[in-house]
Amino acid sequence: MDKSTFDQYVLQTYKRVPLTLVKGEGMRVWDDAGNEYLDFFPGWGAGNLGHCHPSVVAAVRAQAEKIMHIPNVYYNELQGKLAQLLVASSFDGQVFFCNSGAEANEGAIKLARKRDATKKTIITLKDSFHGRTLATLAATGQPEYQQGFDPLPAGFVYSEPNDVPMLERLMDTEVAAVLLEPVLGEGGVLPLTPAYLRAARTLCDRFGALLILDEVQTGIGRTGRMFAWQHYGVVPDVLTLAKSLGGGMAIGAFVVGRAHCGILGPGSHGSTFGGNPMACAAGVAVLQTIAAEGLLDRAAKTGALLQAGLLRLAQRHALIAEVRGLGMMWGVVLKGEGAEVVMRCREKGVLINCTHGNVLRLMPAITATEGEIAQAITVLDEVLGELPQA
Ligand code: PLP
Repeated sequence: MDKSTFDQYVLQTYKRVPLTLVKGEGMRVWDDAGNEYLDFFPGWGAGNLGHCHPSVVAAVRAQAEKIMHIPNVYYNELQGKLAQLLVASSFDGQVFFCNSGAEANEGAIKLARKRDATKKTIITLKDSFHGRTLATLAATGQPEYQQGFDPLPAGFVYSEPNDVPMLERLMDTEVAAVLLEPVLGEGGVLPLTPAYLRAARTLCDRFGALLILDEVQTGIGRTGRMFAWQHYGVVPDVLTLAKSLGGGMAIGAFVVGRAHCGILGPGSHGSTFGGNPMACAAGVAVLQTIAAEGLLDRAAKTGALLQAGLLRLAQRHALIAEVRGLGMMWGVVLKGEGAEVVMRCREKGVLINCTHGNVLRLMPAITATEGEIAQAITVLDEVLGELPQA
């Protein structure tokens, strides 16, 4: 189908790149003209294992021949297995399955609100991103995404990232939860400081609020640990997940600490497709592959190479203001707009992303090789060299 026919029939909610991708394998994708690209932002953060990882493909294929969908009133073995694996790799508790990151956060917000009738405020961060449903949009601390969708659900308050005194001022006994991304993704790849996360944990405990960590983007090995909070030693009460958990299949989940598992009882929350066997088969394959292939260590090592490469570029190009990130999640903060850099990288066969207008976002698969990292750094170096330095 040509692009203008596509545009005639598909609602135009995305600024689409003029590429039709038809095939993916590991870190590579191909367009309909047979051109190959190195994908440094696979699946918009959902590609921690790259494209079409053989173990995920095999699991999904095998499951499709058995049963594809089971309503959640019946037991579903794979859902139980995935929940057990998630709990084993996070903290003791139970898991609810849904289909996306927004749904995971929506469920976590519902849980926090239902827990105590006197606590309804949710504190989130300016520049955060938690999803596009009305409640998660209200949680998202970026007014440009909220514009025109009022009235949004009330009770959301925004704090400055890494500003402990501000969080202290906002906390009181009416706060139901503090909802944080350990590294703000859409908000410009901004890692929270260990001191900030620790302060959030302490304040939540002092005021009887839940600490909800949104690891939709940072989870499942992205930062070199299974979950970013494991770098900080700050354990949340609720952990929200999606994106790479499905290895390419749509899935969302939230893990609830054992102390809070009774809040959402029968009838209080649900999803027709949440945790269906196809998505859970993929999720189990993802977690087993990460363990079997030692991908957390690999992500930490390859991520250090990526960081070193980007820091070298920062020394060579005055256009770079800052390099920041964690593990295999890196932002290159430019002194100007990033769209031109993204386009020129694409013309040279490397797909990257730009968020917040001026932050290049590089989130290769955690399976990426040293050679693939070097190739992307070389292309970025060339592109930055072509542009006027601010
Ligand atoms: N939370 C974070 C941190 C995200 O980055 C995103 C999406 O980019 C979401 C939530 C929403 O996830 P979804 O698009 O699957 O609803």
